[in-house]
Formats: sequence, C-alpha cells, structure tokens
Amino acid sequence: MMAQTGKRDYYEILGVDRNASDEEIKKAFRRLARQYHPDLHSDPQKKKEAEEKFKEANEAYEVLSDPERRKKYDVFGHAEGPQGFGPEGFDFGRGFGDIFGDIFEDFFGGGRSRSRAEAGSDLQYNLELSFEEAVTGKEAKLKIPRWENCDACRGTGARSERGLKTCSACRGMGQIRLQQGFFTINRPCGQCQGSGHIIADPCPTCRGRKRVYRERTLSVTIPAGIESGMRLRLAHEGEHGINGGPPGDLYVAVTVKPHPLFTRKGNDLLYDLPLHFTIAALGGKVEVPTLKGKTMVKIPEGTQHDSILRLKGLGVPSLKTKQPGDLLVRVKIQIPTKLTPRQRELLTELAKESGVCLQNGGHGEGLFEKVKNFFD
Ligand SMILES: [Zn+2]
Ligand SMILES: [Zn+2]
Repeated sequence: MMAQTGKRDYYEILGVDRNASDEEIKKAFRRLARQYHPDLHSDPQKKKEAEEKFKEANEAYEVLSDPERRKKYDVFGHAEGPQGFGPEGFDFGRGFGDIFGDIFEDFFGGGRSRSRAEAGSDLQYNLELSFEEAVTGKEAKLKIPRWENCDACRGTGARSERGLKTCSACRGMGQIRLQQGFFTINRPCGQCQGSGHIIADPCPTCRGRKRVYRERTLSVTIPAGIESGMRLRLAHEGEHGINGGPPGDLYVAVTVKPHPLFTRKGNDLLYDLPLHFTIAALGGKVEVPTLKGKTMVKIPEGTQHDSILRLKGLGVPSLKTKQPGDLLVRVKIQIPTKLTPRQRELLTELAKESGVCLQNGGHGEGLFEKVKNFFD
C-alpha cells in the first residue's frame, strides 16, 4: 500500500531464497549487519554507503521476520496491497536488540526512542472499479489502515509527563558536542535520538512507539470519467509523521475492469455491432446496447464492413468538462456459414444479377476491373 517504487526486493537485499526459513533470514541479516555496520568504516563515503546498506537490510529484516508482514509482502510487494508495512525508514524498535545487543548498544548508544521529526509515509490504495462505476463516478468507502499519532500519549511515547525523563547524556540538549582535532562537531545525541528526553515509562497503548496502527474508513469521491491507471491524491491522508513530522499523502490508484461489450477510446465508447450482410446491403433498423439501455439505430442502405455510426452523447463524460463523448458503433458484417438450398438458390441468383462469376474468382463490378488491370 505504501507508494515505494524502485525499491529493491527484500529477499534480494538479504540474499536469501523466497522460501527461506526464519532462521536463515535471521542469519543473513546478522551477517549483513556486521558487514555494513557504519562504525566499521572510517572513510566517510564508505561509512555513508554502509549506513544505507545497513538501513536497507534492517528494513528487509523488519518485514521478513514478521510472519504477517512477510505474507503481505509476498503477495503485494512494496507498493501494493491493502496494508502498508508500518513506519517507514529506520525502525529498530522490534527484535533488533535481541539479535546483536552489543553492536546495537555502541552504535546507537543504547537509546531506543526515535525522536527526530520524521514525515509520515505516503500510502497507496489500489481501487478496482467496474466499467460502469468509472463512467458514472461514485462515492467509495475505503478502509485505510495506517499509523496514526497515539492519542493516549499525544505522540510522546510516554505514559505521562513523568514518564519522560531528561536525557542524561546530552542534558536535554539533544546534541552532543564532539572535539575532533581542530573541529568541534555537534552530533545528534545517540542516547535520546536528538529529542533531549528518554521514555522511562512507555505509554501502554503504543508501547512507546508514539503511533498506533489503526484502520479507518474514508469516503472518497471518484469522479465520473476516471480511467484505468489514474491516481487520485488525497493530501495529508497518509500516515502520520513522528515527533511532529508532517503526514504523508494517500494515493488512490484506479484500475477499471473491462466491459464485455464496450471499449473506451478516450471519452468515446466503441461497440462492435454484428450485422447480417443483407441488412448492410438493404438498410434497416437494429437494436444497439448503450450504457443507458438499448436504442434503435438506423442502418443506411449499402453500409460497409468496419464503417462507424456515431451516437452523440452516449459515451463517457469528460473529467474536465463533464461533456459526454459518443458511442461509436462499428459494423461487423456477418456472412452466414450454412445455407439452406433456398438461400443458396437466391444468392446464386443475386451473384448472377451482380455480374459475379462464381467459377472464375469473380469480384464483380469495379473491383474485378481493378484486379484485372493490375495483372495486365
Ligand atoms: Zn540526549
Ligand atoms: Zn502512546
């Protein structure tokens, strides 16, 4: 559900098989975590690269080590599905410490609260519409699960004000001053992740995560005339941010199911009308289906195969102007495959009357002359 395209496959990141066991996934992650631990690299460029790899591996592990999320990922991949994969980015809240406590401790200074402001993730909801719904538009009730600010602790992650202790490492400054040679560098405090405080008594509702995963129902107006592949953007309806970060957006990606009779050409509809060759030749009236019910259409005498009859205003309303397109009725001339003796007699008579020679590949009239001239 989260709009995350261009992301590497989680299995590929961890270098494991799609049916790898939990143990294999854990092992692979452990190996990568040691390999890419940023503290093992002194070169700034290498350190940065290692950090990226480290984050990537962590995210993959977060999803694949959780049976529920893994199942969802297997079905929907990064961007699809009815639910997202929880908070985006570097979340080391769950199961991280148990794997390699020691590395974790010195890299992050033991702090587990994340306090730098983080924007909420964008979400993508994949909505399938019937052909008719896309033409008329509708009010869709969408169930959107997302991470929201925890009301119980107002997003602080602590049970009460007293559950939030001033960080002793930075004395509440959120930054640590480092002397490196001639330089003094201010670095975000690892103990409190730059917030200046530590969650001593976590909020029981969100268990210190500051957000809770909730499903809510959202009413979304699907405009008449929407087409497959279009996305509606609902600003700020994505996941809530952390520590006052802005919320993400919600995208509703639309797929329209095909119709058994009509195909869409922009705002026009195309319908292939099977027409008996005698009506095409003689002219007449036939019943034609439209999205608003059946209608009678006059077939002019001498109608040709693939010719198009245009029924004004029976197409799809334009998204911009609301003006409907047309219904294009394309004639598909039907030739009988079995003839009764009487029909055969009549058709032979007709061929003779039309100057068509049945034994000599006769084309009749003008066309025969054209072909004859071509060979001469
Ligand atoms: Zn601190
Ligand atoms: Zn809470």
